[in-house]
Formats: sequence, structure tokens, C-alpha cells
Amino acid sequence: MMRSGLIEPMDDMVDFGRKSVSSFAPGPRFAEYFDHKTGTENLEIHAGGWVSDYGIVGLELAACPVCGTEISIQNAEELEILKMELVKASHRFLKTGSDASLPCPICTGENLIKYWQTEPHLGFCQLAFVFWNWPPVQECRYDLVRYLGETLKHNIVFTYGRL
Ligand SMILES: [Zn+2]
Repeated sequence: MMRSGLIEPMDDMVDFGRKSVSSFAPGPRFAEYFDHKTGTENLEIHAGGWVSDYGIVGLELAACPVCGTEISIQNAEELEILKMELVKASHRFLKTGSDASLPCPICTGENLIKYWQTEPHLGFCQLAFVFWNWPPVQECRYDLVRYLGETLKHNIVFTYGRL
């Protein structure tokens, strides 16, 4: 993405031990990829562990892999309990890098977060590209998502969050 001129480095990589974050600004050829730019775009690349904190805040739905219950705003109390458990699981995951488990507030069964289905997706991944204030990546003139997937030889999962 740097070689193509889409982005350019903003500052040095910030190293947090087992995890690092690099920041990038729009590059000199940004306008060839997107119709508009806000001037505040920032791309963060998180390596070594990332959880969508804003996805936890804005969690809309979580389906327990044990009992199959879909917990949503209809179960506001259970959803809040789940969010608190997710914050604890996030801290464990970011500290250790190992799979985190999550107890279900309905059936009390516990399973790894990767088996829970959530809306939005919460990350709990080892590599993330966080596009701050960018136009939707689907509006890129080139298939940026496909490019990333092919380059990384890995499927790409979209997510979003709320402040
Ligand atoms: Zn359950």
C-alpha cells in the first residue's frame, strides 16, 4: 500500500511488547483510489493482537455457541453482563495472546470467543487494519480488500464499532 502511494508513514512504530501499532496517512496517490479525502484519515496497523473495543461498546448481537441463544438489546441485562465479560476477555487476550473464553449469561456455558457469533465482529485477532475517517473501503477504485487478502494469503473480516 505504501509502494502504490495510497499511504505513507506518519510516525515510527509504537511497540507495546508483544504487540505493535504503526500509523499511516494518505499517500501522494490517494486521490487515484478514492473520490474524496477528509484530511484526517489515519490507518493503524496492529500486529500481535487486536480487539475492537468500540465493537464491544456497540455490541448488537452475540450468539452463544453452547445454548444457541441470541443475546441482543432485547436481553439488555444479559448483553451488559456479556460486554463486561468481553472487556475482561479482551485484557486477557491482549496480555497473553492466547484464545480467550467467554461465559454465557444465559446457560453459564463457557466457550472460546472465536466460536461466538457477534455483530459486529470483535476481532480477537493477531493482525488488524483500522481505517480512521476513511471513505468506505468498498468505495476504493481498486479492490483493496481482495489485494490485502491475496497479499496476506488470508481471508479478511470486516467490522465496525461505535464510540
Ligand atoms: Zn449459552
